[in-house]
Amino acid sequence: MNDCLFCQIAAKKIPSQIVFEDDQIMAFKDINPVAPVHILVIPKKHIPSLAETSLEDQKLLGLIQVQAARIAAQEGIAESGYRLVANTRGDGGQTVGHLHYHLLGGRPMQWPPG
Ligand code: AMP
Ligand code: ZN
Repeated sequence: MNDCLFCQIAAKKIPSQIVFEDDQIMAFKDINPVAPVHILVIPKKHIPSLAETSLEDQKLLGLIQVQAARIAAQEGIAESGYRLVANTRGDGGQTVGHLHYHLLGGRPMQWPPG
């Protein structure tokens, strides 16, 4: 998917501030942070959103959550707490069509979200 922004970030054709990477996942700083810690965790494989996942993706999705928790610890927000969010399609507020999880922390989060 050459025209996908996050595929290009995963391929390092577009630079990003990478905080974690393995063969399946990349995590990098959001370019427009809305919290003191705002990191995007993505699968390197192109999946448009959570709505397009299948049972074949369950290991990958589990891995993303486990690694997000590790990244939270690495970033110093494990004790204070954080939020992991996957905005999905229109009403979910998704603007980039490559599955990504926002890891947000460093300040209290509100509920319900806007
Ligand atoms: P969403 O609106 O949930 O689809 O989230 C997309 C996120 O991608 C937003 O928080 C943007 O600030 C972020 N973003 C867009 N372009 C870049 C980029 N080149 N590097 C890092 N983050 C980006
Ligand atoms: Zn993509």
